[in-house]
This record gives sequence, C-alpha cells and structure tokens, in this order.
Amino acid sequence: MKLLETGRLTARFPLRLFIGLFLTAHAMTSLAGDDAPGPAWRQSVPRISREAYVETLRFWASRHPQILELKTVGHSLEGEPLSLLVVTDQSVPDDDKQICFITSLHGGPERTGTSTILHLAEWLLSDQAEAVETRRRQVVLLMPIVNPHAYFETDRFGNSLGIDPYTGGGVANWDLTKMAFKHPEKAPELMAVLSVMDAYQPDVHADLHGIGLQEYPSEKLGDRTLYSGQTMFEVTGSAYSNHTLRPWDWRITEAMVSAGVAAGYGSDRFEADAQRLLWGSNLTQASQQLWLGHSNFYTAQYGYHNFHTMIMALEIGWEASGVARLRGLLRVGNQVWPGESHRGYPVDRVKSFIGHFVTATGETASNRRASRIELWQKQSRFTQAVLYPQTDGRDTYIVATTPEAAECIAESPTDLLSNIRNLPEFDSEALGQFIDAGPEIKVVIQPGHVKGSADVSRLKNGIGFRLRLPYQQVTALEVFLNGQLLTADSEVHYSTWGGSGFTELQIDVPPDQLDARGLYFVTCKYQGEQPREHGWRPPQEVVKRLNRH
Ligand SMILES: [Zn+2]
Repeated sequence: MKLLETGRLTARFPLRLFIGLFLTAHAMTSLAGDDAPGPAWRQSVPRISREAYVETLRFWASRHPQILELKTVGHSLEGEPLSLLVVTDQSVPDDDKQICFITSLHGGPERTGTSTILHLAEWLLSDQAEAVETRRRQVVLLMPIVNPHAYFETDRFGNSLGIDPYTGGGVANWDLTKMAFKHPEKAPELMAVLSVMDAYQPDVHADLHGIGLQEYPSEKLGDRTLYSGQTMFEVTGSAYSNHTLRPWDWRITEAMVSAGVAAGYGSDRFEADAQRLLWGSNLTQASQQLWLGHSNFYTAQYGYHNFHTMIMALEIGWEASGVARLRGLLRVGNQVWPGESHRGYPVDRVKSFIGHFVTATGETASNRRASRIELWQKQSRFTQAVLYPQTDGRDTYIVATTPEAAECIAESPTDLLSNIRNLPEFDSEALGQFIDAGPEIKVVIQPGHVKGSADVSRLKNGIGFRLRLPYQQVTALEVFLNGQLLTADSEVHYSTWGGSGFTELQIDVPPDQLDARGLYFVTCKYQGEQPREHGWRPPQEVVKRLNRH
C-alpha cells in the first residue's frame, strides 16, 4: 500500500482529523519527535483506543453505505459489542459471490492482526480497480477485534475467563464428534466467530496474527505502546503450533507468498524452510528430527469441518505485508483457479478416489456452496469404486451416496451387473456392453463409513462428478450416466476443458435428476490426442545379438 510505504503514520489515515482519535496523548508526543534523529525504535506506535475504533467503524459505515454494512455479532463477557464489517458491492446480487472471512483471533494482544484488517478495510473501501472488482465478486467479512478485553485492557491472549478465541483453550473444550464448543457461556467472543461462520458458511477464512505485548510481563508493559520497529518473522499459510491449520492447496499459500514478495516482503515457509518432515503421533520417538508443530484443533477448523472452508493463518510483522498477502488471496477468489472452469476459490471437491472427485454442483457460487456443504457433511457415507486396472481410452467412476445403493456395488463385474439388472433407472444392457468391451478384471471399492453421525437423508442440492482424462485433448468422447448416453439435450450436463495437463470432465446432476436410490455410474470412452506407448524395448543391437545366438 502506497500510504504505508512512506512509513509515516500521518499518511496512514485519509483524514488528519482521525489521526487524533487513533492516538493516545503519549503517541502524539512521540510522533511530534518524528523529525528528531535517532533509532526508529525510540518512537512508539500509536495505540488504537476503544473510542477511536468504534468511531472509525461508524465513520466508514456512514461514508460507504453502498459497500459496507456494520453488524454486531455478539458481545464480550464485559458486554462490549463485537463488530463485523460486511464489505461488498450491494448493487450486485450476492448469488454469485465468493465469501471470504478475515479475523484476528489473537486480536487481542497481537495488534498487527487487527491493524492489518483496518488497513485492508481502507483498501477494500477505496476506488482502486482491484478493490472495486473484489467488492463485485466477493463478500468480504472483517472482524478486526474479536477479544476487546484483551485488546484494550490486558494484552493477554484469553478473555477475562482465560479462554483464548484462537484455540478455544485446548481440544478438551471442543466436542469434535458434534463439532461444538463445550462452554459457550465462558467464551461469547469465540461463539460470535462461530456464529459468523454458521451464518455465512465462508469459502475461505484467513486468520491474522502478529506482534504485540503478549510476552511482556505486567511490570514491563509501561504505557502499553509498541515501539516502532518491533517486528517478527512473517509466516504465510500455516501456524507453527498446528500444522493442520493451513490451506489444503499449497498453491494458495504460494500465491499469497508471491504477492508479499512483489510488495517487498518475504515469508517463512515453516517446515519447508526448516527442511524437516512433519511430525505424527507414531513418530514421537524420532521427533527430535521432525518439524515439531503438532496437528491440533483450533477455532478456525470449525469452518473446515462444518463447511469445507479453506483455512489459513498468517504472522504479520508489517501491516503493508499483511495487506499485500491478503490481496494475493482475494485475487485468487476473483479469478479462475487452474483446472477449474468458473471463478472462485478451489473449495468444491468433497471426496476423492484415485483422481476422481465428488464435487459441488450448481450454476452460481451460492448454489455450489449449498451443494458443497450438504455433500461435505454426508460424504463420509459415500462408497466409491472404479473398474480396475485403469485403462487408456476408458474411465469409470461409481458413487453410492446411500448404504442401500452401496449394496449394489460388487467386486466382480458380473455380480455388479446382476445387481443392477432390474433397476429401472439403469440401462443395464448398455452398461454391460461397456464392461464387456474392456480389459478390466474387477471393480475396486472404497466403502463409505456406514456407522457414524452423518445424515443419511437424500441429497437436495444435486451432485457433481469430476474425472480427469489423461490427455490435454480428447476426441470421440462419449459420456454415460447409469448407462445412458449424455447428449446436449440431456437433463444431466457434462462439460470438458483442458489446460491442466488433463481433459477435465465434469458431470453435473441437478437436484431434479438425483437418483432415488443414490447410485451413480459414470462411464466414458475417448480417444487421446496422440498415440502413446507403454513399456520399454531393448536396443536394436541387443535384439540382433540375441537373435544370432
Ligand atoms: Zn497468534
């Protein structure tokens, strides 16, 4: 951000009037000494007062009513309102927008998390072309201060009962089978964050951390301003303490790292930079040679487990770096992700089997979100299967979304065909011809978890299937669902596109075409763009020599 690059605090806020609101009397004094020679760290960074924070949010909301809605999403234990900024172009319907949630769960004491969100808000509310585009394509949810008691009063991680909104105070405070926090009355701040996740079911959630006075003992807190130049090594994507908390796709992390580098800020890549392998519970005896971050459960993972939200954490040493990296993330949501056909974050795959995927389906981002969440919550019961071995020119993907449908899938192709012979929705003859025409020897099955808490009721929002044919381009493609050839007139659509090294093949079953039993056989035939060979042959000279003997 240009304003920040000057390094002068007076340039950070659009109106000089507001500077005063942000600064304590002490900080004003030290700013007055800006021109005096001496190390930067002799100066202090202004603290944001409670009044300045509240008044700024009100000011932004009144100045930008078409693009900013201010909501109160809860109250702290002390009764302070917890604010959510909803930034989006309200003249564009929300149906096809991505939803990006940005919090500072340690803000709280880690002040650069909060101040980065405030800088990002200024950018998002600006007339810059990319901000305007982001507002048209996304709903950006900002929660700058989750724990006001810590931010304004204590500079400690927990709320006044000691519950840290970032972790919930340890995995024992979570019921992971029900995916619920056990002590809501002790942590209204954390519950407010969960309520935003429940209400918006975000596609992506970035949680911002950074520097503060959390390590200062109380006798060293002084006037509780940070010194100018206090910083930290910057981390993008994951948490040092919890390697589970990260985007599932490292290319997301790299897109953010690149955006930071382009602005002049490098990121630490945790276990990659330390050149260590990840630790796991079976490896405890060898742990001294492993990356000592653990897999753990923190608040952000509630979004992943409930809504398949892509999650991440950042450590921020300079706000300008945090803003640059977040802009890199938001850019991903504005664009078409490699291998995909529509704009948005890559969040639609809910189950996989050797290169085949169950995906969300729907015309708009909100349709796909509803589909994704329904499938995500039910996918553990889905049984998947393919004909084995995989064969050039042919592919199959069999998915049973109910236990009843799963009973039809058998390892022997003959048994499989006899199981489906009398099902009315199947063209079992065509399916039999497809199977008979191929060299595969069996059906390989990955059973769903029949026991468990997943809802077994029928799907409501449709289902998608993704196959990846191993050629950039294919010809003579024929795609069948349950033995029926899909054509341009079919109610079930398929589409293909390239660019990822594969021909991506997506089959979308709309809600009114869902199979009553929950059984789906995708089969396809195709011709690869160029002939390929398998195996190896010895040199001609060797063949000749052998023939002489
Ligand atoms: Zn933190």
